[in-house]
Amino acid sequence: MTAPDYESSLSGPEARVLIIVTGGTICMRRSPSGFVPARGFLKSALAPRPTFNDGSNPGPVEVVINSEGERRLYPSLRTPPSSYDGRVRYTVYEFEELLDSSSIDAKGWTQIARTIYWNYTLCDAFVVLHGTDSLAYTCSALSFMLQNLGKPVILTGSQAPMLELQNDATDNLLGSLIVAGHFMIPEVCLYFNYKLFRGNRATKVSASAFAAFDSPNALPLAVTTAMRTQVAWERVQKPRHIEHFSIQTNLDTTHVACLRIFPGIQPQMVDAVLKLDGLRGLVLETFGAGNAPGGQDNAMTKVLADAIQRGIVIVSVTQCLSGSVSPVYAPGMTLSRAGVVAGQDMTTEAALTKLSYLLALPDSTPESVALHMATSLRGELTEQSQTVFRHPDGVLPERVKNLAAMGYAVAQGNMEKVQDIMRVEQDWILNDADYSGNTPLHMAATSPNLSILRHFLLHGGSVHLRNRAGRTPLFLAASAGLPDHVGLLRQSGAHLHADELPVAELHARQRPVLWELAGVDVMGLKMGNKGKVEGSEGVLDGGSNGDEEGWNGRVDVLSRSPR
Ligand code: ASP
Repeated sequence: MTAPDYESSLSGPEARVLIIVTGGTICMRRSPSGFVPARGFLKSALAPRPTFNDGSNPGPVEVVINSEGERRLYPSLRTPPSSYDGRVRYTVYEFEELLDSSSIDAKGWTQIARTIYWNYTLCDAFVVLHGTDSLAYTCSALSFMLQNLGKPVILTGSQAPMLELQNDATDNLLGSLIVAGHFMIPEVCLYFNYKLFRGNRATKVSASAFAAFDSPNALPLAVTTAMRTQVAWERVQKPRHIEHFSIQTNLDTTHVACLRIFPGIQPQMVDAVLKLDGLRGLVLETFGAGNAPGGQDNAMTKVLADAIQRGIVIVSVTQCLSGSVSPVYAPGMTLSRAGVVAGQDMTTEAALTKLSYLLALPDSTPESVALHMATSLRGELTEQSQTVFRHPDGVLPERVKNLAAMGYAVAQGNMEKVQDIMRVEQDWILNDADYSGNTPLHMAATSPNLSILRHFLLHGGSVHLRNRAGRTPLFLAASAGLPDHVGLLRQSGAHLHADELPVAELHARQRPVLWELAGVDVMGLKMGNKGKVEGSEGVLDGGSNGDEEGWNGRVDVLSRSPR
């Protein structure tokens, strides 16, 4: 069942969302040569609509536009209050070239990932407008590229342009903004036709219906009804590592291919593809539960086995809309013995982008890629042994009581009691908030027992949720003068919210070392330097991350293998 809404809503402080426009039907206009993407979306499509503009005329906001940390002011708008009593302040950043999504490739994915990375600490969430044709590929690619993501990234588009009288664009964008601004879902998601899907589970199922997307092997993460948006919190992925947000760019799409098996397919055809110059990976769309013809005298199996011997990773996914590849039939078993990796219930889009991502990682080998293709990195496949926990019905009062008990246990530093409560409530309680908007992580930020904080960070507590006063756990830890707590939170990717910075800078005059640890640019303050942008990995300035290509596409110095 779904959790009550009060628990993780960001009600209280206003959420800041960056809308990134890449193109697609949603922002198109009629032209003599058909629909073409048009610029000026905020002014032409959003400002005139009362649902997107409460008329309060908030000032412009800063957007970081390049790896040098250059900031530019963009006009912003504010939505009227939602049924959760929150408002969303947003701005629109349009890419220089707006594209039909059929032309978006790994370069475009990199551009989106970098824009999110540059603006990560300035925003609470991101909404990406994109054409529907290749949207599922972009969602999947970003889900892998955005590593240790702690904030919502929601992609959407539409079947009819926002400027057409009858369209689905208005509701798709408004729904995306509301979800992004109110619910801490730290995943790459796709919002369409009132449903929020995990991005790497979604696939385009209709070229014309408003219900253009589905995720046949995974229930939606949230559904919007006339009443409200119900989030299925038990399905939402949560952070399980103490690591910073980072991005892996430049996915290797030039050395992968996708091939659909059909009755009568000849081994020579498959061999020709497998012998393409530089090929490193192949997604094979097989019949049913992962079957393919073995060929006369097992010629097909031999072609596949030879390619695997040469170091090519071959992954099998099903041609069916739902279900999983598993070696239950003899032909499937033969493929598995030849070394073909069972892609289980991954979509083709997820398998192809995941393969490209894994091949782009520094130090990847065919063995490491094959191993990770069969395990879930971002919830893109259902691991057979994974237990699905369900929350019993009608437990709201118990849950509130447990949250209060958790507060006492944390304040007393009683780890045993904390673990007892978490055994009953699973991990969902970690993003619940009490009457003042404090989550267990806020409480742990000043707990006498640092291991409680570590425990919460390792079990999915979000470092980005703010209490009703707009404070993050990091701010509370620094205000309480606890350097170890501050250090641990920073290690987990926590940063001061843009709204907290002015007060933090005042505090930093009294305790510069501690607040510098919390992320205040103390040196910049002394020099009156406003030109720097503090990234989640430290300070992005002109020299440090400028040459991202030099990192083999990885924009983070903390190298690690995928989980
Ligand atoms: N051709 C368009 C695109 O993908 C279709 C759409 O946006 O729905 O950019």
